[in-house]
Amino acid sequence: MTLATVDRYDPEQVSSIGDRAVVVGGSMAGLCAARVLADGFEEVVVIERDSLSDEPITRDGAPQTSHPHLMQEAGRATLEDFFPGFGEKLLSEGGLLIDGSTEMKSYEKGGFAATPESRLPMYGSSRALLEWVVRWHITRIENVSLRDGCQFVNYLLDDSETTVTGVTFRDEHDAETTLTADLVVDATGRTSRTPQWLNDHGYEAPPVDEVEVDLTYSSIQIERPPDDRRGFAAFPRAPRTRGSAINPIEGNRWDVIMIGVHGDVAPTDEEEFVEFAESLPMDELGELVKSQSWVSDEIHHYPYPTSRWRHYEQLDEFPSGLVVTGDALASFNPVYGQGMSVAALDALVLHHCLADGGGKNLGPRFFERTAEVINTVWRLGVGSDFAYPQTTGPKPPGTDLFGWYMGRLTRQAHSDKVLSEAFNRVLRLEQPPTALLRPNIIWRVFFPSPQSSLIST
Ligand SMILES: Cc1cc2nc3c(=O)[nH]c(=O)nc-3n(C[C@H](O)[C@H](O)[C@H](O)COP(=O)(O)OP(=O)(O)OC[C@H]3O[C@@H](n4cnc5c(N)ncnc54)[C@H](O)[C@@H]3O)c2cc1C
Repeated sequence: MTLATVDRYDPEQVSSIGDRAVVVGGSMAGLCAARVLADGFEEVVVIERDSLSDEPITRDGAPQTSHPHLMQEAGRATLEDFFPGFGEKLLSEGGLLIDGSTEMKSYEKGGFAATPESRLPMYGSSRALLEWVVRWHITRIENVSLRDGCQFVNYLLDDSETTVTGVTFRDEHDAETTLTADLVVDATGRTSRTPQWLNDHGYEAPPVDEVEVDLTYSSIQIERPPDDRRGFAAFPRAPRTRGSAINPIEGNRWDVIMIGVHGDVAPTDEEEFVEFAESLPMDELGELVKSQSWVSDEIHHYPYPTSRWRHYEQLDEFPSGLVVTGDALASFNPVYGQGMSVAALDALVLHHCLADGGGKNLGPRFFERTAEVINTVWRLGVGSDFAYPQTTGPKPPGTDLFGWYMGRLTRQAHSDKVLSEAFNRVLRLEQPPTALLRPNIIWRVFFPSPQSSLIST
């Protein structure tokens, strides 16, 4: 399921469902969930362990906020639907709206992708600013309150142990507090404790798919001339185990990442950082890292061993009154920039589930429908990961064949702007991967002509 195959957000479709919903975790998935819950619940309370700043700054509870984040079109469009004026606010705070066709240069499979004919709008912003703008909008919704500095402790269960009835947490003053709720949403990210909690209460924990990529990120910010809006990407693609991206962001800066996979560890000191950048197949990466002043006084390093999908949709029993979303459900290799968009699509699915059946049997209905979103995105990312023989984990059927076809398509896309655009629209989670199997695309992949770059679809 991608943007093209899901109905857009329509708050009018949701009627009154309950008195209070509690969302645990105030990051992208939690805030998006809170937005859609506010249509059906009298009150929505978001509990976040970090103390949140009024400024767009990185934070400890979500350490990935120190690293560059690219928002795919599915996320951008959905956030704009959830929070009208989202993009305008982002731009007014210094974020950029760049054209991915002409302002972003990408290296894929031994060459540079041809420039698509259509504009491919995308934000140029730090992760901290993206999240801050979502928070800014959430705090303006009357029936949503955001309680930061509050640490979730446990779910409350009814006597029959079949329904979650609220949460306990340590509040802003470190006092243990209880909050009853008709619905609790776990948006605590990868370290979610719901699987363990289910086990402790006689339920089965969800089966887990883990695909091991042994990835590391190292990130800095560098100065950017105000009128230079260029971005660059040469992501790791098998057999190359290293990659990098440079994104223009607010404050006349570029966000820069160096990425290593399967034992090629991203650099942690300045000299290695420059050497790593210079070893990549795009001259601008090394040149900019060397020529521009560094804004960061440290290199942020982040190890990401595995992509992980917890299959809640496969459980026979699940307590009422509880839903799990975002990275707590599935967390994806960050190289493909999918997590925030899936968090937004999860919330969109939650919205449709609320509209279609209210709170009844919500968890299983939600898990079944989000599995479709996750499946599409998972197969895209994991498909590329399995191009490395070192990658381990459950390989979805058809991965090798699709990977072979994608390899051929991306190479043809060096000279064919139609293929380049089609490929981009799939990566942006606008179009499903099956869009790359349409006859006109297959034809161009297998029968390229010297004129192919001139012919439109
Ligand atoms: C290095 C890296 C780079 C990435 N790059 C991209 C990218 O380019 N594009 C993209 O779309 N995605 C990217 N992602 C993924 C993206 O960060 C996540 O998918 C996104 O933040 C949604 O996650 P979430 O809200 O589910 O969880 P998180 O962002 O992890 O948030 C969980 C929240 O729960 C809170 N919490 C946890 N436990 C408790 C508790 N007990 N009590 C109260 N609060 C609690 C945490 O403080 C945190 O705020 C990247 C991830 C990583 C690791």
